[in-house]
Amino acid sequence: FDMFILAFVERIFRPTFRKDDFVLGKKLGEGAFGVVYRVSLAKNPSDKKEGDLVLKKATEYGAVEIWMNERVRRACANSCADFMYGFLEKSSKKGDGEYWLIWKFEGEATLADLMQSKEFPYNVERMILGEGQQLPKGLERENRIIQTIMRQLLFALDSLHSTGIVHRDIKPQNIIFSEGSRTFKIIDLGAAADLRVGINYIPKEFLLDPRYAAPEQYIMSTQTPSAPSAPVATALSPVLWQMNLPDRFDIYSAGLIFLQMAFPAMRTDSGLIQFNRQLKRCDYDLVAWRKTVEPRASSDLRKGFELLNLDEGIGWELLTSMVRYKARQRTSAKAALAHPYFNREGLLALSLVQ
Ligand code: ADP
Ligand code: MG
Repeated sequence: FDMFILAFVERIFRPTFRKDDFVLGKKLGEGAFGVVYRVSLAKNPSDKKEGDLVLKKATEYGAVEIWMNERVRRACANSCADFMYGFLEKSSKKGDGEYWLIWKFEGEATLADLMQSKEFPYNVERMILGEGQQLPKGLERENRIIQTIMRQLLFALDSLHSTGIVHRDIKPQNIIFSEGSRTFKIIDLGAAADLRVGINYIPKEFLLDPRYAAPEQYIMSTQTPSAPSAPVATALSPVLWQMNLPDRFDIYSAGLIFLQMAFPAMRTDSGLIQFNRQLKRCDYDLVAWRKTVEPRASSDLRKGFELLNLDEGIGWELLTSMVRYKARQRTSAKAALAHPYFNREGLLALSLVQ
């Protein structure tokens, strides 16, 4: 109840905004469910030319996305982009109006942008540390950078999952590098589900990105009869969570990102799609996949295996505990963070930040 009062008071004293308060800048993205712009406040034009806020104009799913962002803001603020405000803009023409969502502009680059660069992962190292790293270029150093990115991603996922939220659209395009905190944060809660209160409970499988989706596709097993109404869901969902482990859906996607970071060839769409096809042919058995590709591996693939083989193969071990066919056999974000792969020191700045 206290939490409710606090949330209420916070909501009243937080600044509220209307459509006319914003000046639109560059378009950052456009999906089936909304358009994203960089914007600034009209009465307070920022010194940054493009503006220091981000606006998403969303269609019907905007309401859920506002709800998720409000919840994240209170429960696990640092794991996602800094949300400021959301409202329904009743437009003159379109009957239902649009939902407007406002965040702080976190930075220029998503993990997808950074992974596309030939310099990856050294470009990320530079962004986290500023300059200067004593290790010579090579696998050891790349592994350290990738380990740091994975730790930040799993850290954010662990706090989302502990809050009861499954993201369902974890992919490099939805991971932004926050220039302020020098860490990666999660964005785009448009497909997220909050199982504790039954919001967006019914799987919207058509929202899922097939390149990163776990084989089960649906979050809850088909044995879950139907979405209980909100109060019932509150009472039941911890049990359902235990039974169905919906958080493991995100873990699979995070495992694919780990894989893409280790194997440059899988950073392209076609490379990832080809891998998905191969893995499916091996019945989603990563060890079987390795056996089929390693004997005739290109130098690029060999480099990836070498990186994952460092320190008696703990990287490979972690990867295989994330990318598994059965959700219940996949590790959780919390358990993954305790994996020996993370025992080694990552990039120094990280230990200062977290
Ligand atoms: P979509 O539904 O179009 O995928 P996203 O929420 O993923 O919407 O945002 C689209 C793009 O806008 C992101 O890929 C990212 O490049 C940029 N973006 C979104 N939120 C922020 C933010 N808080 N700071 C900086 N860039 C952002
Ligand atoms: Mg997105």
